Amino acid sequence: MDKKQLKEFEEKLKQEKESLEGIMEEFASESKDNKGDWKTRFPDFKAEGVLDEEADEVEEYSSLLPIEKTLETKLSNINNALSKLDGDNYGNCEKCGKAIEIERLKIMPEARLCSDCN
Ligand SMILES: [Zn+2]
Repeated sequence: MDKKQLKEFEEKLKQEKESLEGIMEEFASESKDNKGDWKTRFPDFKAEGVLDEEADEVEEYSSLLPIEKTLETKLSNINNALSKLDGDNYGNCEKCGKAIEIERLKIMPEARLCSDCN
């Protein structure tokens, strides 16, 4: 892969990382001791005493949990890809070691596996 292409992926990954972190900060907090580990914040019950609204907030919390998990996984894949860019082994499949298809990386620059292994 040429340097220009690598640079493009790096830019894209950094942008995605930034926007993902922005979204996650809206409803989750990153652990201070364990970087990359995010926890959905439980809503503070502003509407205390109003049972219906509390139920809504609990429901919102439970619906955010799987979203937080998905975003956290994506973010950790992005961080993984960025560290591979640093280590000069970006773009290789983690399973078979072959180069991941450029077309695949263009869609998903954080891909860890080639399309055969996915
Ligand atoms: Zn593979």
